[in-house]
Amino acid sequence: MTPLSVIDEELDFTHRSAPGTVRFGRNTLGAISETLTNEGLVRALVICSPEQKALGRRVEELLGDACVGVHAKAVVHVPVETAATAIADAKRVSAQSLVAVGGGSAIGLAKAVALEMALPIVAVPTTFAGSEMTPVWGMTENGNKQTGRSPQVRPVAVVYDPTLTDTLPTRMAVASGINALAHAAEALWAPDRSPVTSLLALEGARAITGALQKIAHGTAEPGDRDRALYGAWLCGGCLGATTMGIHHVLCHAVGGTLNLPHAETHTVILPAVLQLQRQREPRIINVICEALNVAPDDLAATIRGLAAAADLPITLAELGMHDGDLSRVTDNVHLSPAAHKIWTAADVTQTLTVALHGD
Ligand code: NAD
Repeated sequence: MTPLSVIDEELDFTHRSAPGTVRFGRNTLGAISETLTNEGLVRALVICSPEQKALGRRVEELLGDACVGVHAKAVVHVPVETAATAIADAKRVSAQSLVAVGGGSAIGLAKAVALEMALPIVAVPTTFAGSEMTPVWGMTENGNKQTGRSPQVRPVAVVYDPTLTDTLPTRMAVASGINALAHAAEALWAPDRSPVTSLLALEGARAITGALQKIAHGTAEPGDRDRALYGAWLCGGCLGATTMGIHHVLCHAVGGTLNLPHAETHTVILPAVLQLQRQREPRIINVICEALNVAPDDLAATIRGLAAAADLPITLAELGMHDGDLSRVTDNVHLSPAAHKIWTAADVTQTLTVALHGD
């Protein structure tokens, strides 16, 4: 019998779809004021990183009276002190909504404020990391990153304007794009996937990988950044609707134990995870390869090739990890029986060893 879904033959699932509005298109930033009005939002505090303050000010101008200020202090991994300053600022200006403009760091800071003050977020993403589509928040205290899920932090509306990604340097574009690809892969082997998340994941993976090939090799044409952002939207939606799997567990263990950069850690670990999943989940790897038009033997090398073309590291050793760190990291890998039942401790060590030195 022909399977009814791309992955599963039996239809038995719960599908959670994100509520909210997604506006996508070049120059849609111009519709930001209308987006807030449609959602009934007022007194918006704009949140961005210091590097994107000019963009934050542009959004402030576009919002006019609906804006109560710009908080340009977002940094990576949302330190608790940074969150406390943003919460104090939001209280000082009596903000009733938040507009997060930027990558995962700006959106992450808005989520920390939303978690505390129950304010609705409108997100304007400028990287491909995908946080705008998820109910996942993260905060760092004394070097330890804590994450959680709350529907309160998922943006109520997202404005995707691909022109805003034109300034994203190639290296960052490819790193955040591979992060998005990892969300899609994880959704395909998630225990709570649905036929819908599988379709979104494959379409997202196809769109983002095709675009990244050209961005990484410097042959991007008009429309390729749009396709990458379109893929990032779908991949982020998959992460928001399913349980994070082995890839994210390994990234958090490596990144958290050794304080390595987020996107680069994902970039290095994803090919190693896909290599092992070829033995553990061959059917899913075959479906991914079909979507990407890559032979299963070449999948990991294709992703490493993307990273190398964008001058990104392809081994954890390049990021500063040593052989002596391996046991410390593996001690911090906590496999949950529900999400990782087919992975063993030996699989973890094998995968991290491949990621450490390359294949
Ligand atoms: P980022 O937000 O840290 O941005 C990196 C730098 O790039 C910043 O200085 C930023 O100002 C700059 N930048 C962003 N967009 C730009 C553009 N278009 N042009 C020029 N410069 C630009 O990077 P990221 O990879 O988007 O986010 C990483 C963070 O997001 C991590 O903390 C990660 O844990 C988090 N994240 C969270 C989720 C989630 O669901 N909660 C998902 C993915 C990532």
